[in-house]
Amino acid sequence: MTDPQTPTHEIRHFIAGEWTGTPTRERRNPARPDDLVAVIADGDAKTVDAAVRAAEEAQPAWAALPAPARGTVLLDAAEILRSRAERAARDLVREEGKTLAEARGEVRRAIDVLRFYGGEAWRLGGDHLPSSVPGTFVYTRREPLGVVAVITPWNFPIAIPAWKTAPALAAGNAVVLKPAELTPVSVKHLADCLTEAGLPAGVLNVVNGPGSEIGDDLTGDPRVAAVSFTGSVAVGRHIHSVVSARHARVQLEMGGKNPLVVLDDADPATAARIAAAGGFGLTGQACTASSRVITTPGVHDAFVAALLKEADRYRPGDGLAEGTVMGPVVSEPQLATDRRYLDLAAQEGGQVLCGGARPEGLYQAPAVVTGVHPEHTIAREEIFGPVIGVLTADDLDSAIDLANDVPFGLAAGIVTRDLGAAHRFAARVQAGVVKINRPTTGLDLNVPFGGVKDSSTNTYREQGSTALDFYTWTKSVYVGFED
Ligand code: NAP
Ligand code: MG
Repeated sequence: MTDPQTPTHEIRHFIAGEWTGTPTRERRNPARPDDLVAVIADGDAKTVDAAVRAAEEAQPAWAALPAPARGTVLLDAAEILRSRAERAARDLVREEGKTLAEARGEVRRAIDVLRFYGGEAWRLGGDHLPSSVPGTFVYTRREPLGVVAVITPWNFPIAIPAWKTAPALAAGNAVVLKPAELTPVSVKHLADCLTEAGLPAGVLNVVNGPGSEIGDDLTGDPRVAAVSFTGSVAVGRHIHSVVSARHARVQLEMGGKNPLVVLDDADPATAARIAAAGGFGLTGQACTASSRVITTPGVHDAFVAALLKEADRYRPGDGLAEGTVMGPVVSEPQLATDRRYLDLAAQEGGQVLCGGARPEGLYQAPAVVTGVHPEHTIAREEIFGPVIGVLTADDLDSAIDLANDVPFGLAAGIVTRDLGAAHRFAARVQAGVVKINRPTTGLDLNVPFGGVKDSSTNTYREQGSTALDFYTWTKSVYVGFED
């Protein structure tokens, strides 16, 4: 593992049940440049074409299987992943930089997701409805779409591929999955488990390579009936233009600038713990990260003092080392982005109270910036690092106005003991997920998830039973049983 020349994994494309391609691109552990995690084959238009063709050929037989048989494959894959969970978690730490505890939690989530949709396949039913015509009844069937493309980001390298792929497969679709170029190893674990569980060749295909080079080949392919994407707004917008131009179905879940409101009646230490978990946990590299805290004036100073104490606890280190609570930043460009936003924060008049020093290695210490105004760049743009900007608002209503004063609408939180204030916030805040006295990060897999405004296409929700809506269409069947 420490030999800088010998990669642990050779990552190829997975097409029609075969791993193909010549690995050339390196991925190194962001905590330890001498740890060569993988060499990866980068695909091109021909690779995408072969993957889509394999999916198209395999899909009808997969869809023709009884849905419980499809569910059984997912349930068996969950057990296989469970048996190698520790290996998958350690690889996840090495390719993405999470802490081992975070990675174990994410692999556990992928296992549970496979189980959940394994069960959903057994329940995959429609409705039956009364007909206005005598001697007739009506029922609906959920039909798979055919071939679907799944495009995923690096920040949850196994959970997001699992929560998109599992419902797609449960519903009888075939999948072409394009993982983020930084994190293909976790997807290999997922594909291996599904294959060993008996998923027929061609039902899941994986194509690796930079999205900027092969993305359009995949999203623009007329044989691809739908595209499910999670990632940045800029890439999502581009994908939307490609997919909607050919009138195919598209689901985009994108970035956030998630507010956490702290009201005067909150306990400052509790609020700081919630803010730090949401803002510094996962190295701030979560779409639901708390990146804006909006306090009312009475709690501001005590909250900031408590938050600085929390920041002290989130000292970054190698995710595999005992006791590390925060891992490295995923890549050099992401670290440069974090640094650029902190420089801008200071230039625009914010006070960078911690995290301002230039780090060694790919580490960014948790940063707290006070005196942030709504027009400051760090109050408006997603950073995707462990940076919390603190704003103030006179009262609950102006805090809600501030919370809503960005183009994003993914997650929003409030810390208060006032039940009325909490419900007022939940009703008025523009966000797909609202957390009361809980960090903005962290989701239950059986609960619908997605954003509003620029954070999402906001047409279909992911996760829970709702996820199946995106991957199916409804056919209505009229049955005459009496003349
Ligand atoms: P990204 O840069 O948008 O990339 C996401 C995926 O799209 C990657 O697989 C990427 O490939 C691919 N891609 C790039 N250009 C493409 C193109 N022209 N056509 C098709 N695919 C293309 O996002 P990221 O940096 O991986 O992840 C961070 C972002 O994800 C943040 O904005 C975060 O908020 C968001 N996110 C949102 C959620 C949510 O549920 N709302 C959850 C997690 C993360 P490459 O890796 O090869 O570039
Ligand atoms: Mg990116």
